[in-house]
Amino acid sequence: MAKPKQGILSALPGVDTLLARMEGHLTQMNAPKSVGVAAARRAVDELRARILEGGEAPAGARALEDAALSLALEHAEKLSAPNLVPVVNATGVVVHTNLGRSPLAPEVADRVAAIARGYSNLEFDLAAGKRGSRTSLVEGLLCELTGAEAALAVNNNAGAVLLALAAVARGREVIVSRGELVEIGGSFRIPDVMAQSGAVLQEVGTTNRTHPADYERAINENTGLLLKAHTSNFAVVGFTRSLSLEELVGLGKKHHVPVMEDLGSGTLIDFSRFGLTREPTVTDSVAAGADIVTFSGDKMLGGPQAGVILGKKPLLDRIKAHPLARALRLDKMTLAALEGTLRLYRDPAAAVKSIPTLARITEPEQSVKKRAQRLSRLLRKAPGVAARVVPAKSKVGGGALPLQEIPSFAVELSVPGLSANQVEEAMRAFDTPVIGRIEEDRFLLDLRTVFDHELAVIRDAAASLAKTAPEGKAPRP
Ligand SMILES: *Cc1c(COP(=O)(O)O)cnc(C)c1O
Repeated sequence: MAKPKQGILSALPGVDTLLARMEGHLTQMNAPKSVGVAAARRAVDELRARILEGGEAPAGARALEDAALSLALEHAEKLSAPNLVPVVNATGVVVHTNLGRSPLAPEVADRVAAIARGYSNLEFDLAAGKRGSRTSLVEGLLCELTGAEAALAVNNNAGAVLLALAAVARGREVIVSRGELVEIGGSFRIPDVMAQSGAVLQEVGTTNRTHPADYERAINENTGLLLKAHTSNFAVVGFTRSLSLEELVGLGKKHHVPVMEDLGSGTLIDFSRFGLTREPTVTDSVAAGADIVTFSGDKMLGGPQAGVILGKKPLLDRIKAHPLARALRLDKMTLAALEGTLRLYRDPAAAVKSIPTLARITEPEQSVKKRAQRLSRLLRKAPGVAARVVPAKSKVGGGALPLQEIPSFAVELSVPGLSANQVEEAMRAFDTPVIGRIEEDRFLLDLRTVFDHELAVIRDAAASLAKTAPEGKAPRP
């Protein structure tokens, strides 16, 4: 049995043979020779593996070579395309961690591009003509917008929490309620971060109920911090008791222990004005007297990936001086994006319109419906596509308002002969991938998270998949 296999294997084309035949295509693709070599190797390896596994292989050296060539060209195409590409978020999850969380406001993205292209005063004091500090670029704005005494922005909120714990409570006990020992997606867990910071976790209370007396019993001369963590992605409901930040601050004052709140998402806007559940704002936490407050830059704030640390000046001075602060420092592009986004908050009413994350969350249902109707009309013009507008429920995502559903509208897209899963997969495989969701065996495009200019992209994706659908066949499950 080994003999025929050996025969086929020896008929596989060499990489050089394939490369010679790929040359014209590579020029057309604007792909360098290295891409051709890698693609040809992959193609030959794949065919060899297929033959060894006893799979089907073309008979004859020429047919094998042709098969290898088309595989190699496919690989070259993939290797030439960027790995990180824009996608259409039609999931209805506004802050979608897998899809890059917050899109930047266009004017903010322009600032980032301008700073990225050239030199800047990143660490240069233009007035004094000498070395300046990059952290000062956003500190003033953060204090102005939140009422905090001092501020520092770092790489992300996980870094902000790690840094604050390391700088303030290393080698000391940090008291946390058992109801707040949260795990956020992507392996951020309070106990693990605590361990890495060198602080010692002191759990108090129970999962559903923690009382002031629980904290009081645990506080001793080695207590370094009282920590409150936002239960970002779950809710404890029913017979519950937890301390408000005010209560915790009261306890901290009484025992001379600083209090830190990890807000997670953290918002500067009170969303209850838009009919959503009221969540405490960053400003509320600062006003309540928290010594340290941390939150993300790319969740409800609607800016770039970053972690913001606000608080009392003496503590922030210690945090800024810690070696981890240098390790977690922000790049100029992020600083440009964060500064640009924060500047928009000086006019909150305008910010809600110009910051895409805020605009998506607060857009009235009827306005989403109009966009859904426009998409539905566009799609129905494409032959072989069925589309209709259906009510849907969007989510904020990113660990904010976990129970909140925002009324929305979606377009249900179907193609005769294709199952919902096949439609989902094909839309995801388009040049500009379109990511929707499947609900009760229907493929839905939630329009709350789709921008106007993306409607044409969705139409093109749907039109291309209708062309490939095997007409008249019953959908495969
Ligand atoms: C999201 C979140 C984090 C992590 O923030 P990143 O910016 O993703 O690093 C930490 N704590 C809480 C409570 C969160 O919700």
